[in-house]
Amino acid sequence: MNYQKRIKKLQGKLRRKKVDALLVSKPENRQYLCGYRGGDHGINETSGLLLVPAKGKVHLLTDFRFKLQAEQEVPWAETVIYPKGALKLLGRLLPDLAVTSLAFESHYTLHSFAERMTATLAKKRIKLVPTDGLVEAMRVIKDEEEIALIRSAVRLNEEVFTEIHSTLADYPTEIDVALAIETTMRRKGAERPSFDTIVASGANGALPHAVPGSSRVKKNGSLTIDMGLILDGYCSDMTRNLVAGKPSKRYRKLHRLVRKAQLAGAAAVRAGVRGCDADKAARDIIADAGYGDYFGHSLGHGVGLAVHEEPRLSSRSKKKLKAGMIVTVEPGIYIPGWGGIRLENMYVVREDGCENLNSDSTWLDI
Ligand code: ZN
Ligand code: ZN
Repeated sequence: MNYQKRIKKLQGKLRRKKVDALLVSKPENRQYLCGYRGGDHGINETSGLLLVPAKGKVHLLTDFRFKLQAEQEVPWAETVIYPKGALKLLGRLLPDLAVTSLAFESHYTLHSFAERMTATLAKKRIKLVPTDGLVEAMRVIKDEEEIALIRSAVRLNEEVFTEIHSTLADYPTEIDVALAIETTMRRKGAERPSFDTIVASGANGALPHAVPGSSRVKKNGSLTIDMGLILDGYCSDMTRNLVAGKPSKRYRKLHRLVRKAQLAGAAAVRAGVRGCDADKAARDIIADAGYGDYFGHSLGHGVGLAVHEEPRLSSRSKKKLKAGMIVTVEPGIYIPGWGGIRLENMYVVREDGCENLNSDSTWLDI
């Protein structure tokens, strides 16, 4: 990855905003800018803060636990350890670097930390400038190197799905299926799942974010599997539905309807189209068939270093899609007491359409 190029681009943005530096706290943003893979273990714990000055050297502030990792992963940055907390270090370091205005990620900073930071920096006459989405705006367009990594993450996810699908009879309950998926991911080289695997049998399928439990995968019963993994830092996300045995007439009809909506949504995805237009293309198919009330979530989301990121394909999303964005298209129908069906693929937005990152080998014609 060309981190220097990304840093340079961000530094240009900071100069245009007339701030001396940006403190990057969101893990995916840190990773995007410098390749640092330290993770945060909770909302008030950090494995490091990246200080990007408008001009000059990037500093990675962290604590003893991550010192070696930071030095190994980001050898070109100045790693600085804070033995007494990040604020104390900032209070000392910022005046040394002649920073008088510090931008921070207001959408990813606890209010209590921002208050303490304001108090500490006021003593040094440093102004805090809240920003929202500076790095995210860069992350939303993927370069071909990133697209290739995401393609590999999608392929591996499909490989895992195919393996589990062919041995499904070995896993009697939802949790057995989920465990098999997640161990297979790790065994095949994924870092970890990109989110908690969703396995919903029968009526549980009506919950879009069902938590796998001890429910048995019944004979002639349905199963919705939503799974994703992280490979080389990048995420995949895919949903498929299975029937153990013979599907009911209604199940078959609705599965075909959801697939029709999925294909209509994908056909609408191209550069220049608004997120809400793609959403509408799929939603109209489901609504026209009389199931509009049973499709209560948006059509899709961006995927990259995070499994849910910009852009959104929703009725409220008026922003136009741009080439290089990666989105899911995942319509669904959820009927309480009966079950649910969702189909999800990932696409690269191109100037003249979109590229399906999934192969058709995992489409199950029910
Ligand atoms: Zn998704
Ligand atoms: Zn999903």
